[in-house]
Amino acid sequence: MKKAQYGFESFAIKETADLSNIHSHSLPIFTSSAFEFENLDEGISIFSGQKEGYVYGRYGNPTLDAVAEKIATLEGLGTGEHPKAFLTSSGMSAIYLAIICSVDPGKKVLAQYNLYGGTTELLQKVIANQGREVIFTDLKNLDRLEDSLKSDGDISAVYLETPSNPDLSCVDIAAVSSIAKKYDTRVILDNTFATPYLQKGFALGADLVIHSTTKYLNGNGNIIGGIILGKDPEFMGTKVKETYKLLGSMASPFDSWVLNFGIKTLALRMEKHCDNAERLSLELQRHPTVRKVNYPGLESHPDHQIAKKQMARFSGMLSFELKDGLEAGRKMMSEIRFCSFAPTLGNVDTLILHPASSSHLRVPRDIREHMGITDGLVRISVGIETIDDILDDIITALDKVQAK
Ligand SMILES: *Cc1c(COP(=O)(O)O)cnc(C)c1O
Repeated sequence: MKKAQYGFESFAIKETADLSNIHSHSLPIFTSSAFEFENLDEGISIFSGQKEGYVYGRYGNPTLDAVAEKIATLEGLGTGEHPKAFLTSSGMSAIYLAIICSVDPGKKVLAQYNLYGGTTELLQKVIANQGREVIFTDLKNLDRLEDSLKSDGDISAVYLETPSNPDLSCVDIAAVSSIAKKYDTRVILDNTFATPYLQKGFALGADLVIHSTTKYLNGNGNIIGGIILGKDPEFMGTKVKETYKLLGSMASPFDSWVLNFGIKTLALRMEKHCDNAERLSLELQRHPTVRKVNYPGLESHPDHQIAKKQMARFSGMLSFELKDGLEAGRKMMSEIRFCSFAPTLGNVDTLILHPASSSHLRVPRDIREHMGITDGLVRISVGIETIDDILDDIITALDKVQAK
């Protein structure tokens, strides 16, 4: 049929623009759910894996690939590693993929006991119900780690997060990885709090790195997303890719495109997050209402030496303990005017959380405390605003607590 003979509806429906010579200066969003083949032979060779190419949006998309490749380059930069990566719909879906691909049913995962709350729940409520055993442990105790791996050949992966919630404790990634390597156990690192700008997980020995890109990597608080990166191309290209495709774990093209803009300013943002958090941690440490400040950049932090060894700087997350517990926490929060109350982190704006009177209000005190969430604990994701505005808000609120 000649083009001139197409009907009105056909012209309205057909894609007739030739985009092959358009060189967009910034990354375009490919929203197409499928990709066309030149001819039948090409289709067959792409489908059968003989030729690289895009087929269907759940299997691969040029916008996602461009952003995944950018983050992979940043994670490997200067380390000689070039991991393979896939963007996922959330940090949680990246974690799920990393664990189920590394730990077969009947095998075990050894996880750090203090993790992001969602990760702990995923391990307890989902992973443990799918024929995989979850063992929580303190990965700072390296002798115990070695004993566990030596005595139990069914442990296929060690899962860790550093720095971690809520006390910003740090695990020695290189030490854990070198022990795990002896027993052929895969190390999975959640690098969300540090980002590849401050901590290079692969250079330190991790096999898989995951991020919630919702947090610092995007930084603007306008997407939910994640990424899984792995240094073994065989494992990533077969088992992980297959599972990713079949579970439909991919990020949306729009969110990936938004993330690309966030990453452009990652280095600048992280420097400022660090500047502001360092300054705030020192001011808090000096305040008479504060019992203890948890910031890995402070020499008083129990894991300062580990942090110094593996991080370029100490990121923007901190927490502190008020001497007068719940009452002081409530009073302080009622005096906050500038910082936002939002249950996320890693955004350009400063976010403040008093878990005992909000997110963990209904969690019994003994369980809460076991999670490190004491009555007087306040967590701050220090933003990149003018430091004087941040200090003025928080220190003024603490002065009111003291005056009471
Ligand atoms: C937020 C977060 C996650 C989960 O990521 P989502 O994008 O919310 O699914 C995992 N780990 C850490 C450390 C986080 O902060």
